[in-house]
Amino acid sequence: MPETDAGGALPAQADVVVVGAGIIGLACAWYLLAAGRGVILVDAGSAGGGASHGNCGTITPSHAPPLAEPGLPWQVLRWMTRADAPFYLKPRWDPALWRWLLMALRRCNRDDFERTAAIRGALLLESRDRLAGLLAEAGIDCGFERRGTLCVMRTRAAFDASAGHARVLERLGMPIEALHGAQVQAVEPALLDEVRHAWLQPQDGHLRPDRLAAGLLGAVRARGARLLENLAVRDFAREGGRVVGIDHDGGRIRAQAVVLAAGAWSPLLARRLGLRLPVQPGKGYSVTFDRPARAPAIPLVLEERSVCVTTWADGYRLGSTMEFSGYDASLNPVRLAALRRAAAEYLHEPEGPAMREEWYGWRPMSPDDLPLVGPLRRHPGLWLATGHGMLGVSLAAVTGALVADQVQGRAPAALAAPVSPDRFG
Ligand SMILES: Cc1cc2nc3c(=O)[nH]c(=O)nc-3n(C[C@H](O)[C@H](O)[C@H](O)COP(=O)(O)OP(=O)(O)OC[C@H]3O[C@@H](n4cnc5c(N)ncnc54)[C@H](O)[C@@H]3O)c2cc1C
Repeated sequence: MPETDAGGALPAQADVVVVGAGIIGLACAWYLLAAGRGVILVDAGSAGGGASHGNCGTITPSHAPPLAEPGLPWQVLRWMTRADAPFYLKPRWDPALWRWLLMALRRCNRDDFERTAAIRGALLLESRDRLAGLLAEAGIDCGFERRGTLCVMRTRAAFDASAGHARVLERLGMPIEALHGAQVQAVEPALLDEVRHAWLQPQDGHLRPDRLAAGLLGAVRARGARLLENLAVRDFAREGGRVVGIDHDGGRIRAQAVVLAAGAWSPLLARRLGLRLPVQPGKGYSVTFDRPARAPAIPLVLEERSVCVTTWADGYRLGSTMEFSGYDASLNPVRLAALRRAAAEYLHEPEGPAMREEWYGWRPMSPDDLPLVGPLRRHPGLWLATGHGMLGVSLAAVTGALVADQVQGRAPAALAAPVSPDRFG
């Protein structure tokens, strides 16, 4: 049964409808409200119940270098031979997936890598700075801290292989510090002595993502937004080539503007307009525990295993893996076990006293590692806010602000051009 805020009839009219109440839809709602617009959020499930729930909650300008880089195709082929590798592609006939892969492969060259890193760096820094203001203004306590992140390695070979990324961050003006030997444990005593190398990335931060989503939901409701949960949007209402609302299971809501922020599900809905959005679900897993006594104070990336470790006042999470297995909703025990094994290779106390949740989420992956944010030339009335991949929490604030500006008809900022959905034709 759909739920309405007022518990009454479903509305037939809105100023702006935001489809999807994940962290991106919620951030769009926040900035649209700030710009004086009225917002109805519609979600097929519950607000914050998609990828925005169990992710690692790191805010990472240090992730400016994109996944697609020279050498990645060979690395992927090596991973494909291991059942517990951080990357997995389920072999199957799926034209949209193969088209996406080809687009991604074409970007594994030095020029695209450097250009995309610069764009991502600018967006990530802007978003991190906006986030602090948003949290303060909305009064959200989600444990946001600017302690940086620590990318840690057991082997010199892994350190040397990661040095290229460090140089990219330096070129983008981000501070980064190499640590070796006992310096590593001096900065993070939770790490085993076998962890010999690290990059300290002080520009990063972290927060508890489920509390961010809950806090934002409370804040947008307090400013007058309505949330309709358990109500799937099925189609877009169109008149004379313009999107004028959405059709859901119980009828139609007409609107001045529609924002599609349905995460990894966005391409399924976009098909109704004949659009082939190049967004694939990139499945990731996490395991959440109560906080261990010797929990790391700084979020970690366990480099050789590609696992992220985040600690909050009230919890501790291991998360990772990138599986291209379509919309497969099973929890793979091999992947979950790999997270726990990885943590045991790096940490004195790799798990907390009680396990609270095993989880998966579908990241909305774009082939060029940039989100799709903005209006669509061929579909006036519709704005996209999707494709945030591994960085949806980090990029939520800047995305919300861009969408609100564009819906208001303000001249797009320089940040907007590279993420325009029209770049895919
Ligand atoms: C293991 C893991 C770790 C991660 N760690 C980090 C991290 O440390 N930092 C970071 O920045 N990012 C991280 N991410 C990425 C981040 O979680 C995502 O980029 C982000 O949550 C995407 O948010 P979203 O709002 O676009 O999508 P979602 O949160 O998935 O929300 C989409 C919403 O749309 C709704 N919906 C779908 N179809 C319809 C429909 N037809 N009608 C109405 N509603 C619909 C869904 O119910 C859902 O609530 C991680 C992801 C994973 C999986």
